[in-house]
Amino acid sequence: MHLSSPPAMRIGIVGGGIAGVALALDLCRHSHLHVQLFEAAPAFGEVGAGVSFGANAVQAIKGLGIGEPYQRVADRTPAPWQDIWFEWRKGQDASYLGASVAAGVGQSSVHRADFLDVLASELPDGIAQFGKRAVRVEQDGNQAHVFFTDGSSHSCDILIAADGIKSSIRDHVLEGLGQPLASPRFSGTCAYRGMIDSQQLRETYRARGLDEHLVNVPQMYLGLDAHILTFPVKQGRLINVVAFVSDRSSDKPVWPSDAPWVRNASQQEMLEAFADWGDAARALLESIPHPTLWALHDLEELPGYVHGQVGLIGDAAHAMLPHQGAGAGQGLEDAWLLARLLSDPQILTSTPADVLNAYDSIRRPRACRVQRTSWQAGELYEFRDPAVADNEPLLGKTLAERFDWLWSHDMQSDLQSARAQLGW
Ligand code: FAD
Repeated sequence: MHLSSPPAMRIGIVGGGIAGVALALDLCRHSHLHVQLFEAAPAFGEVGAGVSFGANAVQAIKGLGIGEPYQRVADRTPAPWQDIWFEWRKGQDASYLGASVAAGVGQSSVHRADFLDVLASELPDGIAQFGKRAVRVEQDGNQAHVFFTDGSSHSCDILIAADGIKSSIRDHVLEGLGQPLASPRFSGTCAYRGMIDSQQLRETYRARGLDEHLVNVPQMYLGLDAHILTFPVKQGRLINVVAFVSDRSSDKPVWPSDAPWVRNASQQEMLEAFADWGDAARALLESIPHPTLWALHDLEELPGYVHGQVGLIGDAAHAMLPHQGAGAGQGLEDAWLLARLLSDPQILTSTPADVLNAYDSIRRPRACRVQRTSWQAGELYEFRDPAVADNEPLLGKTLAERFDWLWSHDMQSDLQSARAQLGW
């Protein structure tokens, strides 16, 4: 190092999912930052399913400098429906209720493994370490120390926990804030997931006299206590299907502590859950011989994401139900804002705690609102919104407008507010 070089700031990131890798990728481009990412698994990996991004998430992806590789693997709804996010239909007969339109973006979706590959392939060697499962964190006012199950540890100036809904570091933050701990909550909703070869689905629809438009354009089929969504991935070669079923018999549903959150399910059990649904919906489910079943959990809104030199991002901070397709996008917004603050050379004149607190005060209210409205969206889709229920015109109108605030968010103004708070 040259004598004139400023000392590098050491950033540790725990968790190599979408949020952690996106943050590492941006931070490692800045010479005043020394970045290390610790992932528990032996390699980066994502489940074989699709993920969809709203216009806000697509902006964050561009801002993180990966817009181009993302567009190479992402799907968009084909013209002339390119601005449609989802069409809304009744599950019983596929009758049209309306559409949600996001001008310029529509439905931007990708296979999860392809997206993580894009992120990971851009990460220089030497940043990520695998087989590192964090168990404990300490802070001594100067540094944060994270300890791993293999007996090793790492010390850094700022530690970011991006280790998902079951975060090993969230307790440290909440305890430090003098707040009650927060465990994942079972929502009462489970989701069957599968992917269908789109050519095969077209043939099935043709054979049954169903409209192929339903394959071309992302669809959301709504019903009482259940809904089904479809969108394309792998350049339209596959159709990603998620079929949700909710049990609302208890205010506080409990998922048995010894039961896995994800398991293989039989097609029969899935078909039984949608026994009275119409042909378009049933044809989808009949095309998925081996679904998986996911017990959906979220987190309550946390009172803080930061304690001292340790911060939470992504699902570790604000795991939410998937009903607005917004969870990963919120992790990307976290990564974008945090990267803009940490990569500014003025960080060397501020304390890590001040910078993390600015991140917390800007990001937390919005992420909490997205958590809240994600739960509300599930109620609306399943005819349980008290003001809308199954009123079709009202459903169409509400669904057309309810996502605009989420998608049209101004991230640059977030950055300006954070900088103003830091006196930069
Ligand atoms: P994770 O993806 O959970 O990554 C955490 C990483 O940390 C993992 O690699 C894990 O191995 C590692 N890790 C865990 N513990 C430790 C430890 N102790 N030490 C070290 N490493 C550790 N979001 C959208 O935006 N759009 C969608 O369409 C969408 N659809 C969804 C559909 C379903 C059915 C579900 C369940 C979720 C959906 N989401 C969607 C939400 C989205 O999947 C999550 O918000 C997102 O994947 C969270 O990313 P993350 O990086 O914060 O956490």
